[in-house]
Amino acid sequence: MSAPGSAADGRSRDASRVTEIIHAVHEGVQFGPVVQTPLVMPLISSPAMLCEYEFPPAGTGDEARRELDDWVGALFSRYRKNGQVWGPVVTGWVDGTLRATFHVPSPDALDDKHQSKGVATALQKVTGLCKADPSWRVVGEDDSASAGVGDAKALFLKTDMFSDTSPVYEGSEGTPVPLFQLPIDWHARENLQSWMRRVQLHDELWINSGRLEGAAYVELSDPASMLAAEGRELARNLEETSGIATYYFLKHYWGRREADQLDVCPSCKAPWAAEPLGTGTQGIDSFAYRCDTCRILSEHATATSQD
Ligand SMILES: [Zn+2]
Repeated sequence: MSAPGSAADGRSRDASRVTEIIHAVHEGVQFGPVVQTPLVMPLISSPAMLCEYEFPPAGTGDEARRELDDWVGALFSRYRKNGQVWGPVVTGWVDGTLRATFHVPSPDALDDKHQSKGVATALQKVTGLCKADPSWRVVGEDDSASAGVGDAKALFLKTDMFSDTSPVYEGSEGTPVPLFQLPIDWHARENLQSWMRRVQLHDELWINSGRLEGAAYVELSDPASMLAAEGRELARNLEETSGIATYYFLKHYWGRREADQLDVCPSCKAPWAAEPLGTGTQGIDSFAYRCDTCRILSEHATATSQD
């Protein structure tokens, strides 16, 4: 469990940042480039543990270093797809050893038992390119938020361009669940990660692309769009496998007119659920709208017009 309010505070910071950017973009404000000092680890939006992995190369030449660099990149890409690593990975050569700094959601995140096929293959290749077994250690405080799914009554799928953890949240506390802790196979975990990346790309197009903004918004907000259909199918499969009700978050930014309060589910047209689920204010009950039949969650429109 996270410290009270920590994960939710992170998300509300994200939400206010999204709103700030949306308003700024619509008002024509230009953002400057993001400047990042090399090897300084950016903070991620949820509690996690800072780790360091060392890869001592077997070969000494530039070619050997490049090959190790490439395979370590592949290894972390696969760790991330499997939910074992959260957020960005910073790598660099220190005293002849390739070092990677990154976050994991829990102390056991890199255990062999959580490996996907892709992780196992890449790790085997990387180990073969090292003169000693690569090793990792926690270098930061144990600030892990990983609660797993435990006896969760509900889960939900949600992400945006600022998210760097998991697209699956536990419904009571609203904390992100590491994908490797879900009772699904690695293939399903990678599908969830791919869907997360596609939502993030659409979110960025919606906020930053100008001409593609409308098309991207439809994908994010229409329950029948390809993006939503894919996400809802993933949610259904997760519910089937885990036996835990799994909802899908649908964006709702634009209200067509003041009177349109999105008072029915856009999928089945039935009224939204009137009673809270009893999750408390940080989980599913923090969403303005919920349809139990369609397993959809949504929000109040931020911008409304008279059209
Ligand atoms: Zn519905």
